[in-house]
Amino acid sequence: VVRLTGVQKHFGDLHVLRDIDLAVAPGEVLVVIGPSGSGKSTLCRAINRLETIDEGEITVDGQPLPAEGRALARLRSEVGMVFQSFNLFAHKSVLDNVTLGPVKVRGRSRAEARKEAMGLLERVGVANQAEKMPAQLSGGQQQRVAIARALAMHPKVMLFDEPTSALDPEMINEVLDVMVELAREGMTMIVVTHEMGFARKAAHRVVFMADGQIVEQATPEEFFTNPRSDRAKDFLSKIL
Ligand code: ATP
Ligand code: MG
Repeated sequence: VVRLTGVQKHFGDLHVLRDIDLAVAPGEVLVVIGPSGSGKSTLCRAINRLETIDEGEITVDGQPLPAEGRALARLRSEVGMVFQSFNLFAHKSVLDNVTLGPVKVRGRSRAEARKEAMGLLERVGVANQAEKMPAQLSGGQQQRVAIARALAMHPKVMLFDEPTSALDPEMINEVLDVMVELAREGMTMIVVTHEMGFARKAAHRVVFMADGQIVEQATPEEFFTNPRSDRAKDFLSKIL
């Protein structure tokens, strides 16, 4: 679904993505982990073209990322993204947050979009909050609405950039459970997270990044019990 080939990215003198080659197959759940500053967010942002790249190519379903205009808007809707900070539209109700995209970008009727949105809110367990404003919800609830909002666009792939790291501990699992469920249903997912429980339960493959490079990739089983590189061993000894 997503393929990166020879991707290079600099911020000034800083080489943040170094020759990244990565392919994510349909239905695959990829967990990306690595130290702070290793380029994980930049990688996600590049796939959604929130960040441009200097060299290499990124394709979604075989199509190179469009540079601008309607094609870019369509790409963004096909690549769902959930960030660390809950970035819902603050002045729109929960339900409007989920229906806005389908109506504006996909041209769905309001009635249709609302019906589907209610189904999605049900699925992530916040249907009873539909008429509230985002600020009236807990962080965990807001993050589940953000997932529903992305799903409403029928994305080909979902990107999660540390979706639980800003949450209070008791809310982490309610968000992870929704993500595990999505993974079981066959959604293609790229998940930046240090939640080992999620990786063990849902990931098909773990990619370990350091200094803008993919240092190692393995199954969660292999990676957590038997990391090969010193960088990975060192990193795991700090977070486990
Ligand atoms: P974290 O775990 O802290 O979220 P990360 O792996 O997501 O880290 P990135 O956010 O991708 O790391 O950042 C990679 C490097 O690029 C960092 O050194 C960061 O300071 C730098 N960087 C990121 N965005 C920019 C920017 N817009 N301008 C300049 N430097 C940036
Ligand atoms: Mg980051």
